Amino acid sequence: MTSSKTSFYKIPKFLISKPKTRIICTIGPSSSSKKQIKEMILEGMSVARLNLSHGNAQFHKMCIENILEMSKQLDAPVGILADVPGPKFRIGKIETDILKLTKNDNIIIDLSSENNKNDSSSNLQPSLKVWPPGIENEIQIGSELLLDDGSIKIKVSSINKEKINCIVENSGILKSNKSLVIPGKGSKLNYFTPETKESLEFIANNEIDFVGLSYVRSENDVERVKDFFSNKTNKPKLISKIELPLDLITLEKIIKSSDGVMVARGDLGVQIPISKVPSFQKKIIKLSNKIGKPVITATQMLESMIESPNPTRAEATDIYNAVNDGTDALMLSAETSIGKFPIESLKKMSEIALEAEKDFDHINFMENRNNEDLTTLVDEAISYGACKTAHSVQAKLIIAFTESGSTAGRIASFRPEKPILALVANKSVTKKLSINWGVIPLPAPKFFKVQEMFSAGSKAALETKLAENGDMAVLVVGMPIGVPGNTNLMRIMKIPEPELNN
Ligand code: ATP
Ligand code: MG
Ligand code: MG
Repeated sequence: MTSSKTSFYKIPKFLISKPKTRIICTIGPSSSSKKQIKEMILEGMSVARLNLSHGNAQFHKMCIENILEMSKQLDAPVGILADVPGPKFRIGKIETDILKLTKNDNIIIDLSSENNKNDSSSNLQPSLKVWPPGIENEIQIGSELLLDDGSIKIKVSSINKEKINCIVENSGILKSNKSLVIPGKGSKLNYFTPETKESLEFIANNEIDFVGLSYVRSENDVERVKDFFSNKTNKPKLISKIELPLDLITLEKIIKSSDGVMVARGDLGVQIPISKVPSFQKKIIKLSNKIGKPVITATQMLESMIESPNPTRAEATDIYNAVNDGTDALMLSAETSIGKFPIESLKKMSEIALEAEKDFDHINFMENRNNEDLTTLVDEAISYGACKTAHSVQAKLIIAFTESGSTAGRIASFRPEKPILALVANKSVTKKLSINWGVIPLPAPKFFKVQEMFSAGSKAALETKLAENGDMAVLVVGMPIGVPGNTNLMRIMKIPEPELNN
């Protein structure tokens, strides 16, 4: 019944064999060339991440151009995620690139604003700049400060007007822009620090699909960023990075007001005891699945591969567990941004995720997810219904017609065994689905009649080769057409849908 000769609905061949779990790669000096980005897309990078706390606007612009060009060339909807600095302290630029700190050294945090450079050349007492301003309001004598996700500890010994004197408690090598954290608490800074504001402006003016909101403290921070984008043409999805010790009520409110969350284990592991990170990670994943929002597991997933071509067994198991716990996406940070083996890291992550998915218990996950006590929404009921029905009739795929992408995402949160083909009327939405587990987004025309949608669904299933004649498919549609957030109709279809004359 595919009457037209040329296919309208096409999925690049290389995407078919990739894991359903999405992979996000941080782009940095190790991975910014067109050649590397192309290879990474071919190896399964679904989302490219830029951390706006590092690099400069020129570098990020170049990365964005390269990602867009390669994604177009390969016809793959690669999303772009940009993390904003947020109300978090970081070490300023270290002129000598690296600064060696030895136990019992004295070190000064210089609060003066004359120059913004770190004077690490003074060999007696190196001095550090910290950005954004305001660290003096958060500490006292005796405060312990953790640098670079906790790898170096310093302790405040005295505070004079513009200088905070500290003693190094454990040695390490410090680089520019590494984190400075006061364990156990977030900062009192306004969410819109000058650097955060600048980053948000950059995002509003560039083709960026997701914002990674660092150091979200409450849903209020998320709402303020939402307001910022309300009058902008580019409205990215908001991903809250969970990296502070939040109670479950606050966490739930944050997830509900965001479009997705990231378990940012780097900062989390210095804010709460490391022994509590695994349990918190699992709680965040479970809660996000329940609320129907995508969740990313991030930081140190293949840390050893920054230096080595092979991962540790523990890292392989960490990826396996995250996939089977229900993470939508896995993220590579330093492994791909500054590591020696960016492509190998991605390949290994993809291989491990594929193996983990073989053991994924779809039925159990779906039923457990449905048994969660949440107020039954139409969206929720129809998504569960579609997955359950697809299983009962052994459908080859689920087809979701979606405007904002949220229906496809909600179906994904039930983890059906078969692919979810999202047919979206707005091409820019395809990239915004690049973070959701198992969703294959394709642009579709605007439809005016429901029968046109059924015909298109049948055509798309055949042209993408996700189904053959005689196969079953489950479709979900919103009626009346064109009213967003209104998915309320489910159809079981035997392919092909007969072509009617009117
Ligand atoms: P976050 O808390 O947001 O994860 P981070 O400082 O840990 O911040 P990542 O995004 O996890 O940063 O990246 C890991 C490391 O890779 C960074 O600490 C930084 O050294 C390096 N990096 C990332 N992006 C760039 C870039 N554009 N230029 C140079 N180095 C980068
Ligand atoms: Mg990190
Ligand atoms: Mg962080």
